[in-house]
Amino acid sequence: MEEARAEWVRGVALVLVVGYGLGRWALEALNRRHLHAGAGRIPERLQEVWDEAARERMVRYQSAVSRFAQWRILHVTGVMVVLAPRFILPLFNRFTPLPEGTLKERLLELARRTSFAIGRILVMNGSQRSRHANAYFTGFGRARRVVLYDTLTGELAEPEIESVVAHEIGHAKLGHIPKMILVSGLGLLVGFLGVHALSRAEWFLAAFGFQGTASAMTLLLCLLLSGPVLFWVEPLLNGWSRSREFEADAYAARWGQGGGPLIEALIKLNESNLSQWMPHPLYRWFYYSHPTLAERIAALERGAATT
Ligand SMILES: [Zn+2]
Repeated sequence: MEEARAEWVRGVALVLVVGYGLGRWALEALNRRHLHAGAGRIPERLQEVWDEAARERMVRYQSAVSRFAQWRILHVTGVMVVLAPRFILPLFNRFTPLPEGTLKERLLELARRTSFAIGRILVMNGSQRSRHANAYFTGFGRARRVVLYDTLTGELAEPEIESVVAHEIGHAKLGHIPKMILVSGLGLLVGFLGVHALSRAEWFLAAFGFQGTASAMTLLLCLLLSGPVLFWVEPLLNGWSRSREFEADAYAARWGQGGGPLIEALIKLNESNLSQWMPHPLYRWFYYSHPTLAERIAALERGAATT
C-alpha cells in the first residue's frame, strides 16, 4: 500500500526530528562542560581584560543561555513528536472514533490475534482532499492508534478493511519500518563517505575543470550528480520495497481472512489508478516501490494454493 511508504517516510522523519533534538541537546551539554573546564584557560591577551570575577560571570551567563537552548530544543522536539499528532494534525483532518459495531470488533479481534497493541481506532475524513483510500498507525505501544480513511470505510466491505489493516500490521510485525530506517541511514552514510572521498580527490574536480580540492565545489557537483546517481540506486530500493509488500500481503492473508478479501480490497483501491496494471517490466523494475496489482493477486493466489 502507498500508505506503507508514507509510514516509512514518517518513521524516517521521526528519527530525523528526534535525532536532531537529542543531537543538539547533547551538543549543548558537551559544550557547557567544555566551557566550565576550559574557563581557566583564557588567552593571555584577554587575561588583562577579564578578571576572575568577570570570567565566572561570563561562564554563568553562557551556561544559562545554553541550558535554556537545551531545554527549548527538547520542548520543540516533544511538541513535534508527541503533541502534533494529537493536537495540531486534527486541525487539518477531522478524526472521529470508529463507532461500536462489527467492524470495530473485527479489528480488535485481529489485533488480539496478531498480538498487536492498539488503543483507539479513528476514522479520518481524508476523502475530502483525495480519493486515496487507506489506513495507517500512529503512536507507540498501547497509545498506538489506527487511523482509517473514511474512503476505506465507505467503499470496502468489513473483511476487506480487515485485510488492509492486517497488511499494515504485517509491515509493523515484520520489522519493515526499522529496517527501512536502517537502510536509508546506511545509504546516507555511504553517500556522505562518497562525498568525503571525492572532496580529497583532485582528479574529481580536475575532471570538471577545477583545480585543487575545494570541498564546497565538490559538494555542489555531488548535489548536481546525485539525481543521476540515485537513478541507478532507486531500483535496488524499490526491489527491496516490493519484496516487503509481498511479505506484508502474505502476512495479511495468513492472519486476516485469507487472500480473497485482500484481493478484493486491492482491486477496489487500484480502480482509480489504471496505470498500475501493466507497466513494462523494466519500467516497473525501475520505478515501482509496490508490486503491480496483477503480481500481488498472483502471489496471493499462489499462497492460497500452497496452504
Ligand atoms: Zn504495504
